[in-house]
Amino acid sequence: MRRASEWDVVVIGGGLGGLSAACRAAQLGLKVAVLERGCEQQYACNSRYSGGILHIAQHNVEEPAGALFKVIEDATLGECDAGLARALAEDARRAVRWLREEGAKYIRIGQIVWQQHVLAPPRPITPGLDWKGRGPDVALRTLEANLGKRGGTLLRGAAAAALVESAGRCAGVEAAIEGKAVCFRAKAVVIADGGYQANPDLIRAHISPAPEKLMQRGAATGLGDGLGMARALGAAVSRLDAFYGHMLSRDSFHNDKVWPYPQLDELGTAGIVVDARGERFTDEGMGGVYVANRIARLPDPLSAWAVFDEAIWNGPGRGARIPANPNLIKAGGTVHRAPTLAALAEIMCVPVERFELTVAGYNQALSEGSLERLDPRRTSTRIAAMPVAKAPFYAAPLCAGITYTMGGIAIDPDAQVLRAGGGSIDGLYAVGTASGGLEGGSGAGYVGGLVKAVTFGIRAAERIARALA
Ligand SMILES: Cc1cc2nc3c(=O)[nH]c(=O)nc-3n(C[C@H](O)[C@H](O)[C@H](O)COP(=O)(O)OP(=O)(O)OC[C@H]3O[C@@H](n4cnc5c(N)ncnc54)[C@H](O)[C@@H]3O)c2cc1C
Repeated sequence: MRRASEWDVVVIGGGLGGLSAACRAAQLGLKVAVLERGCEQQYACNSRYSGGILHIAQHNVEEPAGALFKVIEDATLGECDAGLARALAEDARRAVRWLREEGAKYIRIGQIVWQQHVLAPPRPITPGLDWKGRGPDVALRTLEANLGKRGGTLLRGAAAAALVESAGRCAGVEAAIEGKAVCFRAKAVVIADGGYQANPDLIRAHISPAPEKLMQRGAATGLGDGLGMARALGAAVSRLDAFYGHMLSRDSFHNDKVWPYPQLDELGTAGIVVDARGERFTDEGMGGVYVANRIARLPDPLSAWAVFDEAIWNGPGRGARIPANPNLIKAGGTVHRAPTLAALAEIMCVPVERFELTVAGYNQALSEGSLERLDPRRTSTRIAAMPVAKAPFYAAPLCAGITYTMGGIAIDPDAQVLRAGGGSIDGLYAVGTASGGLEGGSGAGYVGGLVKAVTFGIRAAERIARALA
């Protein structure tokens, strides 16, 4: 095996998490290499594809730390690691400012409270994927340039395959470069490979019986390599059963104009979501991320429908930044419309009577104020329930769009990897989507992937610099 020179820090993955860790470490005087599997100049990763909004659970990162901590606890139903939540709440504002000092630019989107730090230029308000030259792409290129100026390097086409262990600590990474094995010795390794959403075996084991029926709503570069490498070194892992994603049109499998936007969350969560039997199967009021997770768990994840009426289509349906109405139709996505529920059921091929009963039962519970007694219950504290009562009636075929996995390698607030038997693994860190413990849980609580990536990226670098001082 060829041996590359010794490094202070080797980072696995050149997304926002990895590049934040690398740049901050180089800024603190450390010798850094980033190994990135992608070969292209603007290699695909979720950071590059993202909408670029730095927020904490749809709150402004400038809010007081105590308030943000509460927001994270609420979003995750109190199932987050309190130490990680506190670290994010306390340091997110600093992380966002650090990124600005590195050269990233932000714009504000109107008065929308959680969209006050959007990487500029923002993505256009059009359906489909559009990332080239947008804020997140510019930010990654800026960070890579800064890393180079500080003596660091980003190696494309370098796929990390295993961690090197020496005297009970992590001492480097083995990677494949142009088919050859190369060993990178390092005093510290940061795993930032972006999660396991594109690893069918891990998805089948933890998230869905049919991974091939989930739409990859991202770059699909997270193959779970980091998770496997860390586990082989004895790392602890958090719950692995939730993902951040959205309800998408089922057409996304053959129509690139309908993903990653528009999301269909507003339609399904203001109205109802039914399965092939024409029955509700989840609490729509928990929000689109939660419902997407429940769709993924269905025996057939391609059997769910969002059902709504004219008032929802013209109300919440127009509400998102890239709303389903009219973007879904403009992009050629399917929305069925019928004058009666029975006619709609015929088009959907679901049992007519059962479907009518489902809608009637829901409408009645809503009018009587007894939604919580439905089975499954329907909450409406997060998202207000609306009746499905005013013709014409609509149905949109759904799929679960998986953006990133929320579980992962267990870390402490400085991103140091925890050992399964207790304590931590010296020299090993994990940041961004590779790490777990903050997001997910039984409510599939979403906190915010970008701000998590930058905050724990810089915290890892600072911890490493302290350890090596
Ligand atoms: C469409 C979309 C919209 C989004 N919008 C937002 C938003 O507005 N706000 C928000 O907070 N979050 C958003 N997100 C989520 C956010 O993009 C991610 O949480 C974040 O970018 C994760 O960063 P990361 O560095 O952990 O992973 P990534 O950006 O995915 O980077 C991981 C990198 O590791 C590399 N890699 C993988 N395996 C290996 C290996 N074995 N060796 C070497 N390299 C490897 C990959 O090629 C990749 O480049 C969005 C995501 C998508 C897809």
